[in-house]
Amino acid sequence: MRSEKEDNILTDRELSLMNAIAKVFPCAKNMLCRWHIQKNVLANCKKHFDDAHWKKFLATFAVIMYAPTIEVYDERVRDLKRDFMMYPTVLEYVDKTWLGPHKERFVCAWTDSVMHLGNYTTNRAEGHHNKLKKYLASSQCNFQNAWEKAHGLVEATITAIKCSFEKSLSTLQHSYKIPIFNNLVGVVSQDAMRYMEMELKKIHSINMECTTPCVCPLRHTHGLPCAHEIAPFKNKEEQLPLSLIHEHWKKLSFDKPKKDPTIAESMKANFDIFMERFSTYDEDHQRHLMRKMTEVIYPHSTSLTEPKVKAKVRG
Ligand SMILES: [Zn+2]
Repeated sequence: MRSEKEDNILTDRELSLMNAIAKVFPCAKNMLCRWHIQKNVLANCKKHFDDAHWKKFLATFAVIMYAPTIEVYDERVRDLKRDFMMYPTVLEYVDKTWLGPHKERFVCAWTDSVMHLGNYTTNRAEGHHNKLKKYLASSQCNFQNAWEKAHGLVEATITAIKCSFEKSLSTLQHSYKIPIFNNLVGVVSQDAMRYMEMELKKIHSINMECTTPCVCPLRHTHGLPCAHEIAPFKNKEEQLPLSLIHEHWKKLSFDKPKKDPTIAESMKANFDIFMERFSTYDEDHQRHLMRKMTEVIYPHSTSLTEPKVKAKVRG
């Protein structure tokens, strides 16, 4: 997943992989797949409970994962420890394996500030892995056979993605035929439209007079406007501008985005002015500018070095 400033990565709890990610992508947030966490909790804890207590435990653990703030998280963890104190082995497992070392990687209180674009689980990758296994059909096929089948799957996936792009470009859902969405329909993906439609519906239930700042995660997690951001446009009967939408949702083609020719033109105009002024400067000033120019053109020639990034070592 890409955000403006960093790549965020979603994995299972594979400690060696997580350590490698921390070294190779020191700025990336390494989130953990919630589906795999629940699967692991099931495998390690279910045997300690009867059916009724297991259901209650699972529900309590789920609400901890979706705790919207650190205060609520602390409160829910206290509830868990109180309600299941007769299961010390389970509490120790949950605390030492998940909540203690990794809560920041999967509990909403922390992940709601990470640009994950709606990816909470690795199911998309798992789904493709399963599909590939079905395409291969056997573990015995030779390299050429395996390559052809894998290639077939990649092509089928590209076609499916192109279909979804086409749907976003050409299908106009009835509920989106409203003036506030005029700038967006056919330009942003249907998924983004669905999120914004839901936010639009929330507007009548939020108190716009409230002076406390908006805490909706949608802007941080998806790069889309929440009900609070949409409300002023609705009240003034204005259209939502395209600039409110993260680039991810506007990518409806595999083609490279076209370069804006005006940027090159204005660069050339500025460069002409620079050359004109350059000829009027004294030699010292010219040498100083030459040095600056060399640093821009040949970044490796600069005497400045990049600041060292402190590697995080976890696990
Ligand atoms: Zn909001």
